Amino acid sequence: MKLVTYLIAAVLGFFGVMFIVGAQGQWITVVVGVILMIGAGGLIYLTQVRPQKTETTMIQKIDLSGDVNLEQMKCRNCGGTLDRDALEVKAGAIFVNCPYCGATYQIEEAPKW
Ligand SMILES: [Zn+2]
Repeated sequence: MKLVTYLIAAVLGFFGVMFIVGAQGQWITVVVGVILMIGAGGLIYLTQVRPQKTETTMIQKIDLSGDVNLEQMKCRNCGGTLDRDALEVKAGAIFVNCPYCGATYQIEEAPKW
């Protein structure tokens, strides 16, 4: 996608230069050339903006994986590492459904005092 945008920008910029060089005093041709070059610059600007957006989603993904690490636990029956999908919240209590040994049990929360 990005390569295509750069190619279009390069073609637009090329035609822009050609229009300006070959204008021979015709100001309308110069204006068309300038508009083409602005369009090329705008396309390159857009491709420069997009990576920043993916960067923010990258940070969000890192935050999510941090939460997963916090919740990482081991099955008390077989010792298999449990991920978020193995946890189920029922009536305010956390239940573990172990995908390795099939054990189902409730996590006793530590008293909060
Ligand atoms: Zn297990």
